[in-house]
Amino acid sequence: MRVIGHGTVALVLTLLTQLGGIAWLFALGFRRRLLVFVVAYAALWGGAQVAAPAFGRVPLPCGGEVLRAQSPVYCLLMRNFVTPEMLAVARDAAERVAADHPGTVTLLLDGGFPFLDGMPLVPHLSHDDGEKLDFAFYYTDARGYAAGKTASPLGYFAFERGKTETCPALWPSLRWDMAWFQPLVRDLQLEPERTGLLITLLLQDARVGKVFVEPPLIDRLDVAGEKLRFQGCRAARHDDHIHVQL
Ligand SMILES: [Zn+2]
Repeated sequence: MRVIGHGTVALVLTLLTQLGGIAWLFALGFRRRLLVFVVAYAALWGGAQVAAPAFGRVPLPCGGEVLRAQSPVYCLLMRNFVTPEMLAVARDAAERVAADHPGTVTLLLDGGFPFLDGMPLVPHLSHDDGEKLDFAFYYTDARGYAAGKTASPLGYFAFERGKTETCPALWPSLRWDMAWFQPLVRDLQLEPERTGLLITLLLQDARVGKVFVEPPLIDRLDVAGEKLRFQGCRAARHDDHIHVQL
């Protein structure tokens, strides 16, 4: 029973953070297990920041005026690693948006893990090679553009439902509505100018291969381009964030 319990914890930590399961298994040999886990995790975290670039991944900025992770949690969980090229795409687009709209901060969601190709970043089906990155939408509150804020505390799952549902009900499907999460969503409105500009800049970037946005949003934001794709009805909703891949 204990073996199953610890195995489950290690598995969940691995799925969430890639390296967290190693820290948990290491800590099992010690009496002050939680303390050892925290210290081991911190050591692995620090090691990843230093070692990942040798394997072709760099951390996205966790703090920054123009571009940063939506929450420090993405950095803490080591979900903010991408290839240097993906980082450059994000930085260039964010700087252009901030040049047009001073004071704008572009927020990043899941990137990828620091090591290994082919290990998906759950719950995403992809994000397994550092060449995929999710951007948060920009939002407004009663006073206008709300710098650094997102409707969802996570950046994900605050859906901009179109007037008509894009997809029929399918099974199996990752198109979750996350109804239980909706009470946590703040009353902020999508800021169409900055969001549309960001999508357009990403579409124009020669390094970018595809951008996923849902059809009702494509219409509302008046964006267009060959690289603009609908992810399909069995994949996760994309009316809460922008998915970009090289
Ligand atoms: Zn994505």
